[in-house]
Amino acid sequence: MKAMLFEKVGQPLRLADIPLPQPGPGQVLLRVHACAVCRTDLHIIDGELSQPRLPLVLGHEIVGTVVQAGADAFPIGQRVGVPWLGWTDGTCRYCQRGQENLCPDAKFTGYTLDGGYAEYTIADQRYCFPLPDGYPDLQAAPLLCAGLIGYRTYRLAGPNAERLGIYGFGAAAHIIAQVAIHQGRQVYAFTKPGDREAQQFALSLGAAWAGGSDELPPAELDAALIFAPVGALIPAALRATAPGGVVVSGGIHMSDIPSFPYSLLWEERIVRSVANLTRQDGEEFLALAPQVPVHTSVIPYPLEGANEALQALRQGALQGAAVLQIVSR
Ligand SMILES: [Zn+2]
Ligand SMILES: [Zn+2]
Repeated sequence: MKAMLFEKVGQPLRLADIPLPQPGPGQVLLRVHACAVCRTDLHIIDGELSQPRLPLVLGHEIVGTVVQAGADAFPIGQRVGVPWLGWTDGTCRYCQRGQENLCPDAKFTGYTLDGGYAEYTIADQRYCFPLPDGYPDLQAAPLLCAGLIGYRTYRLAGPNAERLGIYGFGAAAHIIAQVAIHQGRQVYAFTKPGDREAQQFALSLGAAWAGGSDELPPAELDAALIFAPVGALIPAALRATAPGGVVVSGGIHMSDIPSFPYSLLWEERIVRSVANLTRQDGEEFLALAPQVPVHTSVIPYPLEGANEALQALRQGALQGAAVLQIVSR
C-alpha cells in the first residue's frame, strides 16, 4: 500500500510502498478514506514528542471502512473513526478509575502505532468509533481529534463558563466554538495579533468578539481554552480570566511558559492541561456533534500532499482543518 512515512526528525514525509498491515486478534483492517492533519503531527516531525515508532505512519483522525475483521467485530463495510487513543492496558490504577487517558501503557495512533497517512491501517476495534451518518468522510475526520480532544478541553472549563475565551482559532477552536454557542455560551476568540482573516472566521461562526491574543476582551472570561502551542498564552489568558476561572491548555506540547506575577493566579484561578482522551469523551462528543450540528471546514489534500498540508498548518494558513483524502487502488 501507499503510505507517507516519517523516518527522521526534521525530514519531510516520504511516499513509500509498504506491506499491507495484517490485523491481529481484536483488530480490524480499515481502508482509509480520510485522515485529518493535526498539530501533534508537527510536534512529532519536529522531535518535540520524542518516543515515536520509526518508521512511522502519522495520522490520528482517521475515517475508514472495515475490510477485514475477526469474529464478533464490526461488520465488513462498517465506517468507523480511529482517534489518538489506540490502546490501554485496562488494569492500571488510572484505567480502573475512569482515567484511561492517563494510562502509562497507552498506545497512540500515529505515534506509537501506525496511523492513517496511508491507504490502509489496522486498529483495535475497542477504540474505534462508529461515526454519525450525516458527515461525509472528509468532514468527519476533524471530529476525531480537533473535535474530540477539543471537547475534553471544553468540558474541563466546567458547566458555568458563560463567557468562554478560545486562544488559537484553528481546527479545534472552530468546532468547539459551535458547540459552546449551541449551549448558550458567549465565545471570545483570540488569534495571532493582526490576523483579521481568522478573526473574521471566528465572527462568522457566531463568536461574540474576536481580537488579538495581546488584547483584553470587553468582559472578563469565566474560562479560557488554549489551542495554540504558545506558553505565553497562559499568563495572557489568566490576565483575561475572572476570579475562580480556569485556563485549560488543550495541546500536547507548548513552548515554555514565561514567569508571571502570582496576582494573575490568585483569587482561585486555575491552570490545567488536557492529556489525550477517554472513549467516553468520544462517545459523548460524537453524539453531540450532529445535534449542534457542528459543521467542519476542511481543506482537502491528496495523500501525496501531506507535506504541503503540514506546511500550511505550520504557517497558520488554514481556516479549518487540513484533511488528506485517500483514494486507494
Ligand atoms: Zn490531534
Ligand atoms: Zn491503564
